[in-house]
Amino acid sequence: MPRSRSELLKQQDKEYIWHPFTQMKDWEHDEPLIIDSGSGIYLKDIDGNVYIDGVSSLWVNIHGHRHPLIDQAVKKQIDQMAHSTLLGLSNTPAVQLAERLVTITPKGLKKVFYSDNGSTAVEIAIKMAYQYWQNTGQTKKTGLVHLANSYHGDTLGSVSVGGIDLFHKVYRGLIFKTITLKGHGWDAVNDLEQLLKKKSSAIAGLVVEPLVQGAAGMLMWPDGALQKMRQLTQKHDVFLIADEVATGFGRTGKMFACQHEGVTPDLLCIAKGITGGYLPLAATLTTQRIYDGFVFDHKQQKTFFHGHTYTGNPLACAAALANLDVFKKERTLTRLAPKIKFLSRKLKTFYDLPLVVDVRQKGFMVGIELKGAWDERIGAKVCQTVRKYGVILRPLGNVVVLMPPLSITLDELDFLLMATYRAIEETDA
Ligand SMILES: *Cc1c(COP(=O)(O)O)cnc(C)c1O
Repeated sequence: MPRSRSELLKQQDKEYIWHPFTQMKDWEHDEPLIIDSGSGIYLKDIDGNVYIDGVSSLWVNIHGHRHPLIDQAVKKQIDQMAHSTLLGLSNTPAVQLAERLVTITPKGLKKVFYSDNGSTAVEIAIKMAYQYWQNTGQTKKTGLVHLANSYHGDTLGSVSVGGIDLFHKVYRGLIFKTITLKGHGWDAVNDLEQLLKKKSSAIAGLVVEPLVQGAAGMLMWPDGALQKMRQLTQKHDVFLIADEVATGFGRTGKMFACQHEGVTPDLLCIAKGITGGYLPLAATLTTQRIYDGFVFDHKQQKTFFHGHTYTGNPLACAAALANLDVFKKERTLTRLAPKIKFLSRKLKTFYDLPLVVDVRQKGFMVGIELKGAWDERIGAKVCQTVRKYGVILRPLGNVVVLMPPLSITLDELDFLLMATYRAIEETDA
């Protein structure tokens, strides 16, 4: 019989919850860490222990937990209404947010289609790209191209354009055929050029994670590669789908990764940071051209037949509006620049650790790659060790990921790095 509330919750977790991306055999053996509250960059568990949220609650938190402005906006909205549908109706925060999103995203994106997570934002982009060509009479343009090691979410359409064997291999029998660009960086860009020269009449779109392939282990793309892919897709009239689910909302140092290279994609997918980490919300933004490819007499049946029940949820949109307000009010991106520099400088010292193979960083996205066979679970071990310093991290295989909220201070960042350094050092021993 469990005695305390804490023990009861831990027992019930094991009894009732099946955790995502988790080998439950391991989970059942370990002590679950149950979070009860959060404040700023900190999370507190049910036993009262406090931790730095070193991966922003899986890459979503921007300005910290319980930010007064976002809290207030959600509370204000809940006094208005929690939910009403966008199917056949509209709602105030959804309209206001759409206008703001068009303003802050790369120039040329004009229309906002809402959904509630990153996977669906990508599915929607894929379906729009595909259907556009069907609707406009170029019915052979059906192929989808994606990068090696890509990750675009876990629903089957997104898995179809996924390239991480560990996650995707088991579902190969369920998904549609795509074209994978082998290789990385300029090799992949050259392959794309050859492919488009020969086959663009059969290709609907290219899906990319701009600048950083997050789930692959923070793989960085060379400067200019995105821009080149934009030029090539433009030249051959193939849609560029930019999945900024991870890179969006300041993560790379600019609001969107595409803005580092002056790129406007045809479709932009955003989610994770959109509500500052408060509520599930996503959006797929697109150009006037693609939108116009769906505007026909209803009898022609060229409507975009897609919509999720909670699309444009007012509470989530209110949180997202407040998230953008905080960016402005606190000059988040300006204040981020010196933190990024500090991070780069400190990360160099990690090469002193024998276990470290590579350190990759773009803005506030960091991957520290460690030696060891994948089944040694070295990343997981480091993340377990770092907890005793009061830090929560989650690895990607052998890669220790650092992705703190953008609101972290220099001192807190210093502590996070020191704790991570020590945890790697100790795991080495
Ligand atoms: C997390 C992620 C997704 C999936 O988002 P969910 O909200 O988990 O469905 C898609 N693309 C990228 C690049 C991501 O990092």
